Amino acid sequence: MARDAVRWLGVSEEANIKTMIKLYYDIQKLRVAVNNRVKVTEFIKCHNNHMIPYPKRKKWDGKCPICGAPAEVVKVTPPALLGTILGELRDIEKGIYAYLYQFVSKHPLWTSYLKYVKGIGPVLAAGLITILNPAKFETVSKMWAYAGLHVEYACVHCGYVSKEPMFKCPKCGMAMVGRAPRRVAGRKVNWNPTARRLCWLIGRSFQMTGGVYKGFYRKFLEESMRNPRHKGWTKAHHIAHARRVTTKLFLSHYYCIGREVLGLPWRKPYIVELRPHDYIPPVIDYIGDYTKDQFYRRYVKRILEDVGLDEEIYANLIRTLNELSGVGADSEN
Ligand SMILES: [Zn+2]
Ligand SMILES: [Zn+2]
Repeated sequence: MARDAVRWLGVSEEANIKTMIKLYYDIQKLRVAVNNRVKVTEFIKCHNNHMIPYPKRKKWDGKCPICGAPAEVVKVTPPALLGTILGELRDIEKGIYAYLYQFVSKHPLWTSYLKYVKGIGPVLAAGLITILNPAKFETVSKMWAYAGLHVEYACVHCGYVSKEPMFKCPKCGMAMVGRAPRRVAGRKVNWNPTARRLCWLIGRSFQMTGGVYKGFYRKFLEESMRNPRHKGWTKAHHIAHARRVTTKLFLSHYYCIGREVLGLPWRKPYIVELRPHDYIPPVIDYIGDYTKDQFYRRYVKRILEDVGLDEEIYANLIRTLNELSGVGADSEN
């Protein structure tokens, strides 16, 4: 009974948490917008009443850029009320954050696992526990598909889209390409937009503030840039791809550890669905000697045994990820 209560949140509690997550991001967006307006701004003003923002890049020659007349610099101070509004928005944000933290801090998925993953804070964790609760999905592939992280096959020639792998378009015979699913006007999407957005935020968070998963992100980014099949991609495309692959890997770890934490079975064959030869075992941001860590002892050790992976390989993986996440912190902008 107790276990079921943890596994399945009350319907109303789940709805409340989801509402609060959405509100949190809405308020955050508003706060950022207000923050941009609260600063003192400088303008150039001439006697013909032309007023334009003070040029930031070029050196200003003292003349109006529109009519050439002598001009002066005017400072515009925003009303004090804007500062008050900013403070209030910050307070609301903190309040929602505290509410969500209150929820996740009691949940085993947080206490046994997610709190040890750098880049997953209470707000993302609240999303993972409600929107992508591992108890709701039979397999990890179903979780990926729900979040729109699967691959679809499309014909760039005629627009035909298929969920199944296909090399030739059945409509026009041209080559099909695998890609991230896209919204097509007039067609219902087969993934959940809220789940997809959550995964996008997770990927961005790993890139910006992750630990071991930032290591994975860097590894996948580098691989993408070296991949001859990704030739001609923009930097933004590579980054989006690396974030996606990292998030997908994280979800596969979250899926099996999450099921384990909740006392639910998970199918071993999913490892074969992933990549039969280089299975990547679950990781967290260990502090100190990982072999003494509860997480390693309780979950990882057995998985390594089941899969037949050498402990040394795991030690190397952790070392490599820590190195990757630490070095060249500024090299990616
Ligand atoms: Zn002017
Ligand atoms: Zn076609």
